[in-house]
Amino acid sequence: MRKIIRIELTIKTSRYLGRKQNEVNLGRDPRTTWNTSYRTLAINKVTAALRQMAGKRERCMYCEDSHGTQVDHFWPMVPYGNKTFLWENLIWVCSGCNQKKGNRFDLDEQGNPLLIDPTSEEPWDVLFYDPETGFITARYDLETGLENPKGAHTTKADVLPLNIDVVTDGRKRTQRNLRKAVHRFLDRIVQHNNLEKAQSELIEEIQDHDDYGLVQWYFLKDGRDNPPFRELRANYPEVWERVLESIR
Ligand SMILES: [Zn+2]
Repeated sequence: MRKIIRIELTIKTSRYLGRKQNEVNLGRDPRTTWNTSYRTLAINKVTAALRQMAGKRERCMYCEDSHGTQVDHFWPMVPYGNKTFLWENLIWVCSGCNQKKGNRFDLDEQGNPLLIDPTSEEPWDVLFYDPETGFITARYDLETGLENPKGAHTTKADVLPLNIDVVTDGRKRTQRNLRKAVHRFLDRIVQHNNLEKAQSELIEEIQDHDDYGLVQWYFLKDGRDNPPFRELRANYPEVWERVLESIR
């Protein structure tokens, strides 16, 4: 998972969503209203905005593995019809994640969702990546020694397919490619001593492998203490800064 920045809709599209939500609030069935709106030009604009948010490969916002193909209502339409057309409630997902999630939506004791919403929170704040297995797991609270409840719930096998073999293999492949990119940079510096060129090649390679939120893990979060990212940060702080600027 990675943090997704939600973009703003045009006034016209926002007004359309507001009108439709009003119909549901006045008693129209949320699912029927959503289904009959789905092929309209206005909802096309909504899905286009979600695809744009998902990035150039239009990956599912939950697993970051499969191509996103459909809209998920983060708070399910049943029983949360009052959020059916709420822009902040719409997520771009693959069919596997949508099917697995279904209408299941657990809340904590305060009534807050236990599932991570990647468009409103930083998933790596509650998740941890294990480079050995390619799994994402709950982060442990250092003070209490307990698993973060959101991280634990989101990574459960019966909630979302985040740790199935194809996904963990994909993460490990991306991790290898990111490590190779940094190693190549370090080698190029020694061989050619052309910092400018090596730096732009490094940034290009990192962008080519910006998958699964691992670029954020290795450059912004705990992964930066792993080799060879640690060496890059310690020995080439200016290059490290350029990389951070390129991924923000
Ligand atoms: Zn997915």
